[in-house]
Amino acid sequence: MCRIPVWKRIFVLRALVLLVVLFVSITGFLSVSTVHAASSAEIPTEGGTWTSSTITILIVPQLSAPWFKSSYTFDVNHAVSRWSQSITAYTDIYGSNYLRDLSFVTCVSGVNDTLCGSPDIQVRFIESFGSQSSGLGLTRYGVQNSVFQAPTITTLVAYDPSNTTQLSDIDMVNIASHEFGHALGLAHATASLTDDGTFELMFLSYGQAVGNPRNTLEAPSTLDLFALSYIYDWLATSSMLNGSGHPKTDLALPSGASYSSVYPYPEQLQMLQNSISQLKLEIIILAIVAALLLALVLVFAILLSRKKPAPPPPYSWGSVPSTPTV
Ligand SMILES: [Zn+2]
Repeated sequence: MCRIPVWKRIFVLRALVLLVVLFVSITGFLSVSTVHAASSAEIPTEGGTWTSSTITILIVPQLSAPWFKSSYTFDVNHAVSRWSQSITAYTDIYGSNYLRDLSFVTCVSGVNDTLCGSPDIQVRFIESFGSQSSGLGLTRYGVQNSVFQAPTITTLVAYDPSNTTQLSDIDMVNIASHEFGHALGLAHATASLTDDGTFELMFLSYGQAVGNPRNTLEAPSTLDLFALSYIYDWLATSSMLNGSGHPKTDLALPSGASYSSVYPYPEQLQMLQNSISQLKLEIIILAIVAALLLALVLVFAILLSRKKPAPPPPYSWGSVPSTPTV
């Protein structure tokens, strides 16, 4: 049976402790997670509601304008349909299923205007609001007895206020989504980010740089959708509102509800796949680093086991007194 000298065992033990510490610190580094405290974010309503469960939106493209991208029409349509999908995802978790009765009908001017009749909401485009403004979109509405008076007019820009950077399609979907939130009755949320670290769609400012190719789609938050369930609570009992809606109200999420963005299911699935791919990559990197460290420790251990400990210094007996000569 082989016995390892004590000094060698201490060395191997230290090396293993070092390896474990490195392993734990790397794992911690790779799986950094953000912890947020309970949110105190609020969102005021505009004090208006539509009176029918079907809301019509007419998109008026500027096809002959040189600054207009034809894909903007699709982007606005996409923004509206994403609201419906977020409502579906929200009600699956939090109830208020009557919100699913909201039906958004979009029409395009010059294509199928008649489908929308006299539209509730009109979406128009301009080149830019100009440097005097910091805006990327504007929604003007009229309210009487807490009921919206059609038409609400939404204006979307093609370029930022400096008129130098054009909105990408993702920017256009985000800005149109924000303005559609206004057209439905939401004012500005007080938080710029939700508790899961994503952008609050209804915050006053756009959280991303216009035209940046890395920009991501934003989605209504649980706070926005909770406020929507308040504005349209009459849908729980009727498909038409008789009387008036709620006046302007500041709303916060009820306790127990998490403050996060509610992405449409296909986008949630895509995000999940992306995070799984990221996790796989991290595991591979971790395995490689751990294998290298283990190999390093083994090499050191082998080298040190071959090296003989230095012999102890010879014991000095001192000088033997010489016999004095007589
Ligand atoms: Zn706004």
